[in-house]
Parts: sequence; C-alpha cells; structure tokens
Amino acid sequence: MTAPAKPAPRLNADSRPFWEACRSHRLQVQQCTACGLARWPPAFLCPRCHGKEAQWRDCSGRGRVYSYVVYHKAFHPAFKTDVPYVVAIVTLAEGPCLVSNIVGCDPSEVYCEMPVEVTWADRPAGFSLPLFKPSNM
Ligand SMILES: [Zn+2]
Repeated sequence: MTAPAKPAPRLNADSRPFWEACRSHRLQVQQCTACGLARWPPAFLCPRCHGKEAQWRDCSGRGRVYSYVVYHKAFHPAFKTDVPYVVAIVTLAEGPCLVSNIVGCDPSEVYCEMPVEVTWADRPAGFSLPLFKPSNM
C-alpha cells in the first residue's frame, strides 16, 4: 500500500512569493519598507507600524531553535514512517520565527538555542520545504 501524499502548502496572495522563492532554495521574509521590520508570516500590513509597503529579502538561512517538540505519533498517515520527528520554532538570524522540522540529527540531540541552518526538502508536488539542520555557528 502506498502512503498518502504529505499535505502541500496552501498559497495565497501573501504567501505565494515565499513559496516561489523556496522553489529556488531561497529563504525569504517580508521586510516593511517603512520601519524595516522583517516579518513572518507574510501579511499585507506591518504588525508594528501598519505600513502597507513591503519587500522580500533573502535570509541567511541561519537561526536558533526557540522551542521544539518530538512527535512520536503520526497525526497524519503520510508521516507514519517519519516518527519520531522534530517540529520546532526556529528564530531566524533576521528576527522572524518559522515553524519547521529539525532534520539531520537524532531528535534526542535537539535543544533550545541550538544553532541551525536551512536545508531543503523538494516535494513531488513541485514545492520545496525549508527545513533546518544542526549548524556549527
Ligand atoms: Zn513597519
């Protein structure tokens, strides 16, 4: 029996540029042109100054684990062969936080403040997911 496909991101007008950049393995966040705040998730208004103008900027791909959890149970059948796996909040060097997975190490090795860097998972549905792996910062 073939495992079901993993869910794909649902693009909208705000998130489409992010996912298109991911396809080229470029991690980007919006940056408010009025106050300079780098933000995630993408939105049409700046949460700090309510400015409507923003640009997309490349990120270094580096960050630190803010918090994490190890999943020992798959809550979707497509992830059944992945357990145990790590879901983490990663604080990017540029400031915003992303929810992602930590890969490339045993889940027991992950810790808060762990330095990480982006790595890419190309999915058959035509998108690339930014995941994070341990980094030697
Ligand atoms: Zn702003």
